[in-house]
Amino acid sequence: MQKLSTRVRRFRTGSPLSFRLLAWILLFSSVFTLIASAIQLYSDYHKDLGQIDNRMRVVETGYATSLARSLWALDQKLLQTQMEGILSLPDIAHLRLRIEPDSELVMGQVARDAQTRSHSFDLIHHGDEIFKLGELTVTADLDRVYGEMKRKAGLILVTEFFKTFLVSILIIWIFQHFVARHLSTMASYARQISLTNLAEPLKLDRPDSPLNRQDELARVTDAINQMRDRLNKDVARQERDAAEIRKFSKAIEQSPSSVLICDRQWRIEFANQKFTQLTGYDANAIIGKHPGALSENAMEHRETKHLWQSIRLQVQRVGVWQGEVNSVRRNGERFWEQLIVTPIKNSDGQATGYLILGEDISIRKRYEQQLLRQANYDILTGLPNRMLALDRLKLALAQARRENSLVGVMFLDLDNFKHINDTLGHDAGDNLLIEAARRVSSCLRGTSTVARLGGDEFLVILPGLTGANATSQVAERILKTFEPPYLLNNQEVFVTTSIGIAIFPTDSDNSGTLLQHADAAMYQAKHMGKSSYAHFAPEMKEVSHERLQMESRMRRALEQNEFELYFQPIVRTDTGALCSAEALIRWNNPSMGMVMPDRFIPLAEETGLITPIGEWVLQEACHKAMKWREITGTKVGVSVNVSPRQFRDQGFTDAVMNALEASGLEASTLELEITERLILDNTIETADILRQLDTAGIRLSVDDFGTGYSALSYLKSYPFDTLKIDKSFVQDVMTEQDDASLVKAIINMAHSLGLTVIAEGVENEAQTHFLQEEGCDYSQGYFYSRPMPEEEFEKWLRTNHRVQP
Ligand code: C2E
Ligand code: MG
Ligand code: MG
Repeated sequence: MQKLSTRVRRFRTGSPLSFRLLAWILLFSSVFTLIASAIQLYSDYHKDLGQIDNRMRVVETGYATSLARSLWALDQKLLQTQMEGILSLPDIAHLRLRIEPDSELVMGQVARDAQTRSHSFDLIHHGDEIFKLGELTVTADLDRVYGEMKRKAGLILVTEFFKTFLVSILIIWIFQHFVARHLSTMASYARQISLTNLAEPLKLDRPDSPLNRQDELARVTDAINQMRDRLNKDVARQERDAAEIRKFSKAIEQSPSSVLICDRQWRIEFANQKFTQLTGYDANAIIGKHPGALSENAMEHRETKHLWQSIRLQVQRVGVWQGEVNSVRRNGERFWEQLIVTPIKNSDGQATGYLILGEDISIRKRYEQQLLRQANYDILTGLPNRMLALDRLKLALAQARRENSLVGVMFLDLDNFKHINDTLGHDAGDNLLIEAARRVSSCLRGTSTVARLGGDEFLVILPGLTGANATSQVAERILKTFEPPYLLNNQEVFVTTSIGIAIFPTDSDNSGTLLQHADAAMYQAKHMGKSSYAHFAPEMKEVSHERLQMESRMRRALEQNEFELYFQPIVRTDTGALCSAEALIRWNNPSMGMVMPDRFIPLAEETGLITPIGEWVLQEACHKAMKWREITGTKVGVSVNVSPRQFRDQGFTDAVMNALEASGLEASTLELEITERLILDNTIETADILRQLDTAGIRLSVDDFGTGYSALSYLKSYPFDTLKIDKSFVQDVMTEQDDASLVKAIINMAHSLGLTVIAEGVENEAQTHFLQEEGCDYSQGYFYSRPMPEEEFEKWLRTNHRVQP
């Protein structure tokens, strides 16, 4: 019994569906069996009762007459026999014969509590008259009927129970075999399925018949397998996506630029390593903050608030913001950063966040500021240079025009400076210039400007004067400060200066003429015997006749063949091997002697004579380069200087092409040197001409780099091949740390822009070592060779075209 109940329990928990099915089948079939059996029994019972009733009616019809007759005849024996005959009939257990008028005959017996059924009928004599002789009541005992019914009920119940039980077992077995075990297989398959375990499809353990292929189990199996396929595809896609995302996030994480990603409300969601490195802020600590509100310093917040407002507005309006920002590191240190801010858009084109890329440009900025300083200030004395001085003069004139005041312009030239330089050396010369600059400055008020125009020439601008006298006072003060001797090379040296003065607006109302007049006055002062000053007077204009004279001489010089080209080798810095030569013009004038280009090129520019002179130089240089090829057997390049005015001349490109054609020189052997100033003009024509020349294959270089102010971004937009570092930087690389690092920076940046670098003015071996170390491609300077006249250069080529550094 115990065993059975545990078995049932196990069956119930192991196969609950089968158990429930069994329970329902048992319940329903029992109910049906009971109802059917009850109906069956009930109808049998009725049939039995009917038979008894029938039997009693048969008794009435069969015995009524004969019993009446026996009664009429009073034949008691026959009556008894007849009644015994009735009693012997099945189920008839009792007879009661009531005889009129009041006797009774009873036969048989019934138990007191027995179920009975009675039937009475009259016994009538039919003669002439009709007499009721008595009444017979026949009572049947129903015990047999009930007994029979009980037996039947027992039998039906037992057989029905067994039938039901066996059918249920069969159904359960069928259910188990065809359905439940497959459901279990599916359940355990589903239990084991996971994103990492999708290789095996679900297979049921049953024959692959057409019937099986169409039933519900097959459909569920198919559905599960389809789900598995879809999962497989999804997993593969997810893996691909994840790999892609990993790649991108690694790229962002390791990007050399700092990267910030913000949400739509400009709250930081991500910062990469470079950002942490650059700013010192830990990526996790700034999540959720605004990129302009990282520091705890309220002052800085206020500063950046405005900036970020305009960034936000521009990004919304234009789609991108780019600019240079002076940012603050966590430790309070400031640095320059180039920022690019763009929205991150979804496929509908809506901004879902913002990307902020940053790059540390402190080094470039410092270098640009240094260049800016270098472009505007004289390195030796720290005074403003010619460019800045002219700017200031123009400003002072504009202001004077507004205020109706006077501006004094003084031209100073140290007397006998060249002599001191030659006898005491350049260092002494430099020290003298520094001290002279200091002394001149000490005589002036804050609003005045002292500038060094070059060499030993200084310019003083005295704005806001009320009378011309004031300039004389200043001039006298300056002459006085020059009185004490200078200590040069431990030697006391007396140096004087000559001063020329011109006044705005009395002498001229334009800055250029004012300078010329001051210059003329200065010559007058020198004539007067040095250490003196002179105010400009109209007759002094004649002094500038020297200039005019020079101009007219220059006009004739071409015809007279007075120009000559000198050549200076340009060599590879690492090997010292010759690569090309720069053509440098000289003017041999019978009365002035050898005139250097610095003296006459500016005038040639001013007068436009530079165009024919420049054409001559081009023709000449190209021819010479062809000649060198014959001598050396290899191609030797030639560099030709081009001044801005010449460059902008309409026929310039044609002149270059003609020179190449006439000489037969290849375009790639010719390099045109263009000064930095030209690029600063930044006009469309400049860019066009440069591009035309570049397309023709001619090499282009930026000459005297560092003396103007070109941001490297300018260079990027022009097709330059070469950058020539100005000699003023190269000269001091071994002594001035600043110059050394500047030259290093220029070389690196030029290389990063794809430009070749030539160092100009290399005068000693130490400089060549430095340049070699820094990877400077080519060098040019007195260390290798001074500029040489044609024949000398050819001789040099024949004997010495490989120089050992
Ligand atoms: P640049 O093009 O920068 O030429 C280099 C100048 O540096 C030359 O001066 C050369 O003699 C000088 N130099 C070369 N090596 C050294 C050195 O080691 N130390 C020093 N201190 N100086 C060195 P140069 O010949 O007096 O020419 C001066 C400038 O005149 C040139 O500067 C160039 O801008 C201009 N120039 C020369 N020839 C022409 C020309 O044919 N046309 C035009 N437009 N300009 C010319
Ligand atoms: Mg040059
Ligand atoms: Mg140069």
